[in-house]
Amino acid sequence: MITEAKKVLKQYFGYDEFRDGQASIIQYILDGKNTVGIMPTGGGKSLCYQIPALMLDGVTLVISPLISLMKDQVDSLIHQGIPATFINSTLSNSEVENRMEEISSGEYKLVYIAPERLESYGFIRFLNTLPIPLVAVDEAHCLSQWGHDFRPSYLGIYNAVNQLRSNPAILALTATATPQVQSDILHHLHIPEKYKVLTGFQRTNLFFQVVKGEDRKRWVERYVKKNQQHSGIIYCATRKEVENLYLFFEKKGVAVGKYHGGLSDTLRQEQQEAFLNDSITIMIATNAFGMGINKSNVRFVIHYQIPKNMEGYYQEAGRAGRDGVESECVLLFSPQDIQTQRYIIDQNIINPELHQNEMQKLRDMVDFVHTESCLQNYILAYFGERVEEACGHCSNCLDERESEDVTKEAQMVLSCMMRMNERFGTSLISGVLTGSKNKKILDWGFDRLSTYGLMKDQSQKEVGLFIDYLISEGIIQVEGGSFPVLKVSSKGKEVLMGERTVSRKVQPTVSAI
Ligand code: ADP
Repeated sequence: MITEAKKVLKQYFGYDEFRDGQASIIQYILDGKNTVGIMPTGGGKSLCYQIPALMLDGVTLVISPLISLMKDQVDSLIHQGIPATFINSTLSNSEVENRMEEISSGEYKLVYIAPERLESYGFIRFLNTLPIPLVAVDEAHCLSQWGHDFRPSYLGIYNAVNQLRSNPAILALTATATPQVQSDILHHLHIPEKYKVLTGFQRTNLFFQVVKGEDRKRWVERYVKKNQQHSGIIYCATRKEVENLYLFFEKKGVAVGKYHGGLSDTLRQEQQEAFLNDSITIMIATNAFGMGINKSNVRFVIHYQIPKNMEGYYQEAGRAGRDGVESECVLLFSPQDIQTQRYIIDQNIINPELHQNEMQKLRDMVDFVHTESCLQNYILAYFGERVEEACGHCSNCLDERESEDVTKEAQMVLSCMMRMNERFGTSLISGVLTGSKNKKILDWGFDRLSTYGLMKDQSQKEVGLFIDYLISEGIIQVEGGSFPVLKVSSKGKEVLMGERTVSRKVQPTVSAI
């Protein structure tokens, strides 16, 4: 059967070979098994359902949360000679009825819908009149509360599909799933572990870089001027920041595009198309931009502010270099942006358990900024993949500064935390260590601790950064939500007892491209 699939691959898509994971997924689907495919962005997930859809009798249903992209996806299939359509809320009632009639008469091999449509009893009745061999669930991480984009309507998918008489196979697809999210997907969609196809998350052509302690506007200006001929995306955390940066470049006479949820549909459409056809090379955007956009020659993705979690970060950074050509992913870090993200989380998440989960994700994101180990490996470890070799080309791997032994300083910080009963955050701890006369410190009597002023030869900011480093190394752990409290971890206890040493690259950090 896989030889047959290869013929379809060639005939419709013009490719000779399957990519990693595609052949096994297609084989499982053709065997009628519920399957999950976890592949990086650009890994070729769409073909995994498009090819079976062409080979199997009947119509394949594709469930996607991205209504705004359905038209583009369908148009590009039609362009390739594959009969496809979509039904979503952008259509009028009569358009929906027309399409349903066309679907009934067997005009299409693929139909894209949003998950909410499955909540309609009438629609399920309609689906029950059709032969449906396969239901593809795109962006399957949306069904997990622990993912970064939970959509409650995804939880109804299994029951709806289960009601279908044609007993379709389910294919769940995602690019960003931590081990916890993966197990949620398997559980909810009744997928046996052996039909989980996980290809490496590694993208060897991406060069990761974290830039700290720089004037980022100047940095980004220099970078853009140098790379203007290349296609690139600059992600900001808020619409306001997109507008600021857009104006900044406009004043400098550098042509850039902008994209965020506050712009009109027409303007967004215009900007997106201009970027896709290369009449705008650089796009400044919020995370509203890029979902499902298949532009292969993006040479750089810059995060102008820290995103709120690693899932979002890797998905966005992963839009660079889909064509396999070397590309850069730069994260510009400024500590106050953590506050911005905390604020966004506080505003949007009321459920305490989910709130804590989001805060933990933000901490993992911040640790990425402070780690001195291979950035690529940090990402892979986050998604549950262990890689021994360092990538050799991220900004940490290329950092040639000597390492120095900082065990004694680490012990100072840790013992100060112990003396303060591990009930405070970075600013108070660094204040005590640097001998600050802050009122709170005096009120609590911390100026009488033996660790008071122990690191007064450094600024409070420097000590704060050192604490961040100890957090990223797992020597200090962070607990709590909006007012995080630092605790000495078990690794930290070993440091205190002299059983473990700590080393760090010689400071200060100066990174530039
Ligand atoms: P994903 O959904 O995983 O992000 P896509 O399905 O959009 O990725 O595929 C990314 C690109 O890779 C598309 O341009 C697609 O045509 C191409 N592609 C997919 N499979 C193959 C293959 N076997 N050989 C060559 N190119 C492929």
